[in-house]
Amino acid sequence: MPIYEYECRDCRAVSGFLVMKKEDEKKIACLRCGGKKMSKVVSWVTYHRSEADRLGEFDTRKPQGEEFYKDSRNIGLWAKKRAEELGADLGPQFDEIVENARTGKILKKYGL
Ligand SMILES: [Zn+2]
Repeated sequence: MPIYEYECRDCRAVSGFLVMKKEDEKKIACLRCGGKKMSKVVSWVTYHRSEADRLGEFDTRKPQGEEFYKDSRNIGLWAKKRAEELGADLGPQFDEIVENARTGKILKKYGL
């Protein structure tokens, strides 16, 4: 999967994004502050490996403790892994859902 990491030039937070085509880059925004000034930081190979490793180590059958979900990077990992197991095609919409979950927007949407 073409996942790239971008650093926010405003708050320095690094966020990973699924970039399928060049136009997708224009739509990305910092997951922490929503800033649009993002610079690509890590070579995609490095990130791709770590993402793949994390997915590989992740077992959806094991219950995850509270600590697991304190790391915002792990939100969406479960869904990603399950989708992978089911052979589902994760489109850009999926990434948006994960992004919303990470930033808490999805909770507001459902009034949680
Ligand atoms: Zn930011």
